[in-house]
Amino acid sequence: MRQNTYLAPTLRDIPSDADVKSHQLMLRAGLIRQSTSGVYSFLPLGLKVLQKVENIIRDEMNRSGAQEMLMPSIQPAELWQESGRWDAYGPELMRFKDRHQREFALGPTHEEVITTIVRDDIRSYKKLPMTLYQIQTKFRDERRPRFGVLRGREFLMKDAYSFDQDFEGLDESYQKMFDAYTKVFTRCDLNFRAVEADSGAMGGKDTHEFMVLSNVGEDTIAYSDKSDFAANIEIAPVNVTYETSDEEQAELETIDTPGAKTIEEVSTFLSVAPSDCIKSMLFIVDEKPVLALVRGDHEVNDVKIKHHFDAEIVELASEEETKQTLQSEAGFLGPIGVNKEVTVVADHAVKVMVNAVCGANEKDKHMKNVNPDRDFTVSTYGDLRNIQIGDPSPDGQGMIQFKEGIEVGHVFKLGTKYSEALGATFLNDQGKAKPMVMGSYGIGVSRTVAAIIEEHHDDDGIVWPLSVTPFHVHLIPVNIKQDDQRELAEALYDSLNDKRYDVLFDDRAERPGVKFKDADLYGLPLRVTVGKKASEGIVEVKVRKTGELFEVHKDDLQQTIEKYVG
Ligand code: ATP
Ligand code: MG
Repeated sequence: MRQNTYLAPTLRDIPSDADVKSHQLMLRAGLIRQSTSGVYSFLPLGLKVLQKVENIIRDEMNRSGAQEMLMPSIQPAELWQESGRWDAYGPELMRFKDRHQREFALGPTHEEVITTIVRDDIRSYKKLPMTLYQIQTKFRDERRPRFGVLRGREFLMKDAYSFDQDFEGLDESYQKMFDAYTKVFTRCDLNFRAVEADSGAMGGKDTHEFMVLSNVGEDTIAYSDKSDFAANIEIAPVNVTYETSDEEQAELETIDTPGAKTIEEVSTFLSVAPSDCIKSMLFIVDEKPVLALVRGDHEVNDVKIKHHFDAEIVELASEEETKQTLQSEAGFLGPIGVNKEVTVVADHAVKVMVNAVCGANEKDKHMKNVNPDRDFTVSTYGDLRNIQIGDPSPDGQGMIQFKEGIEVGHVFKLGTKYSEALGATFLNDQGKAKPMVMGSYGIGVSRTVAAIIEEHHDDDGIVWPLSVTPFHVHLIPVNIKQDDQRELAEALYDSLNDKRYDVLFDDRAERPGVKFKDADLYGLPLRVTVGKKASEGIVEVKVRKTGELFEVHKDDLQQTIEKYVG
């Protein structure tokens, strides 16, 4: 590709509206341009990468036995009403009316469409299992579109759907997709983990998110430094045995702690460690008051509280509710003497605490020498806190570290939710009608491109992994007006193209400094510079990733390129 007439406009300055590196670099290297909030065009260079990622996905999907198809973006409202999601999906669903006032949605996902297709055309168990996929533009009116194509309102997704006779079949189909995703993200050179996730409201039982470990994600991932263990901190179990102490229990005392509310303030004021304080937080769990206790250096986890009570709704009590229930304000709450309506639950770590400090349910007062089970009753102990950096990994191997995560893929066991709602049944080998058992599997294709850049860049620009690089070689004559340089560069361009290398040829009459800066920004794996030694047939090769720089004779160039890019 000749750069002079190629649409890949670079920007020197960091665009002020781009907060994360991948967004900045995608704009600066001319990969994308914004159309409106959360909506982007992919320019030629960006599209090349997008297609490379697409092809890796396509290849692994096909190898797994899945079949590619293409469904429409326009989906009739009736279909979504039938599944019950027309209302449930909320404002994220982009809706519109046609000229006859009929309502439609622009597809954010395709469970409804695929289920009706399979319902109408598959009748017998003999056709199952079957997994179908597409790579297609999705529409979601996100509350906060941000970070460029990481969270767009229009974005490219690969979505797949599996149909099985039973749950054992689903387990197999799910595992196939899980393995294919592992291969896809490995080929994209991403540092990722498959993370167990909370299945939330989607009604499934098993779900994993593929998270790229990063510094910008929207989720915090706890992972082991020694094993594959990784989980969203929302659900990561804490598996710690707390040492008991033989310290003697002292007499309970009420003390003045004027203005000291937070654990930090209280522990500083009393010169005790935060781990010797009890943190008390009042929640309303399905309309009932629950006082949750954790050690002062731990964080309460409300998802775990929800699971502990098998509850629907868990909310922190409001100021008013707190006053009413405990006759006190937050900052001075504690479990001693609370009335019977309040259920007190505590994290396992609290059970072994001796002579601790907690709030006295009175403004500016705390209690000292507090001993659980002696001074107050705990209805149940459980795992109620967030896992922390330095905790042992729950699988017993290594220690927990934290990273932010970018969710690039999601695999989900749907079960019969959609097949039952939409009547997708098949006849089993006994001639009995059964609902198909489904799974759904998504990859954010455009988000994956951004995640790759997030992981592979340096101060000068992008550093493309070989598997997705838009071009293999950036060929740069230092001065295109010099006959010997131009002629050698043209000859090399032709011969490398003949050998099927993808070459970006900087045939612009720009200053060398500009060309080199652009080259670093684009981040192609090899830069081949044709300069002063052109007449001797010598060119300079720079490896983008390592910065390695060396001279090569033109006759050996192909061999060198082969060594680096295969
Ligand atoms: P998120 O929690 O990030 O909103 P999701 O759970 O809504 O994701 P899914 O419905 O599982 O996402 O969609 C499958 C994949 O599509 C996600 O794993 C993600 O990679 C991608 N994706 C989802 N929403 C967006 C978006 N707004 N922009 C870009 N990619 C997206
Ligand atoms: Mg979402």
